[in-house]
Amino acid sequence: MKLAARVGQVKPSLTLAITAKAKAMAADGLDVCSFSAGEPDFPTPAHAIAAAQRALDEGKTRYGPVAGEPALRSAIAAKLARDNGVNWAAENVIVTNGGKHSLYGLMMAVIEGGDEVIIPAPYWVSYPDMVTLAGGTPVIVETTAATGYKITPAQLEAAITPRTKLLVLNSPSNPTGKVYTPDEVRAIAQVVLRHDLWVVSDEIYEKILYDGAQHLSIAAVSPELQQRTLISNGFAKAYSMTGWRVGYLAGPVEIINAVAKIQGHATSNVCTFAQYGAIAALTEPQDCVETMRQAFAERRGVMLERIRAIAGLTCTEPEGAFYLFPEIEALGIGSMEFCERFLEEHQVAIIPGIAFGSDRNVRLSYATGMDTILKGMDRLEKFVASLEKSPQTCQ
Ligand code: GLU
Repeated sequence: MKLAARVGQVKPSLTLAITAKAKAMAADGLDVCSFSAGEPDFPTPAHAIAAAQRALDEGKTRYGPVAGEPALRSAIAAKLARDNGVNWAAENVIVTNGGKHSLYGLMMAVIEGGDEVIIPAPYWVSYPDMVTLAGGTPVIVETTAATGYKITPAQLEAAITPRTKLLVLNSPSNPTGKVYTPDEVRAIAQVVLRHDLWVVSDEIYEKILYDGAQHLSIAAVSPELQQRTLISNGFAKAYSMTGWRVGYLAGPVEIINAVAKIQGHATSNVCTFAQYGAIAALTEPQDCVETMRQAFAERRGVMLERIRAIAGLTCTEPEGAFYLFPEIEALGIGSMEFCERFLEEHQVAIIPGIAFGSDRNVRLSYATGMDTILKGMDRLEKFVASLEKSPQTCQ
């Protein structure tokens, strides 16, 4: 059968493809170190598991409302008020199949042919392809290590055209780990207001912050900003609930209803008993979040030190999330070749920066155990040393 043209317009998700390849190699008996998908290695907190088990025992195994269980929508609204200073009611929240699905639903609901969506690069792999699938045009704005990989108000201003509809903001950022300071968020907000834009704020890493970095949701800057911001978030990263597929989108009710209308034809409700696990994650004690954050902080320190000690690699310090994004440009090799060879020759899986719009970098997730980190860093040292000696980099 002839496939729809849209299939040819997007690429497979490289984060998922490389993770699958690493898993297949491990299943074949190879000693693989994976720093590929950003997936916390901790078990889901016991109280979330117990709540989902209870829900199963109580027969919560049937279809539910498309936009989510009322108790979860209320718990999310309460969380937004408590943690983010954003006052939305339960009706302003839709529960989606993970954070990724909330972004996809939003693009489908608001983007159409001719619409431009501004995406600062490096960006998370799926943003541009989601915009393309919705028929819109991704407008990529390059940033560099010099501005902490953050878009400046002047860059944003210069990228805006009469067709601009939406800005994608992601802080803490995947893949750079950079966090917009509250002042930087306010400065971006001024441009957004002046040009009557909308923002989707991907806040999935908001709880994973280091060295006093602060997360300010752009929706919390002012009531005007709240009215033009969609917050995307989920349970995967903060609560180690990746496989549960529970995320959400919060914003003005007419947009939430539009996303729900589409979701009603696509997936219906998110797995009912999983939603009860999510309620427990939000409403029961939060120390598990801090315990995991501390482990990430320790791993970040070890990996950053090891990477910075390798001649030919430079790396900025992440302020949030759980990724390092070293520059490999000095080695004279593209990010795809770097990652393919590293996996083939040393059995270490990392993600090429090209997936995130920067061929100068590679991404390593440190949401993995210290043993893997130490072994992987030994192999990275050897691999980079071999590149420096190889003929193609000595010309
Ligand atoms: N968001 C994670 C990552 O960037 C998981 C994989 C994916 O959904 O892309 O690695």
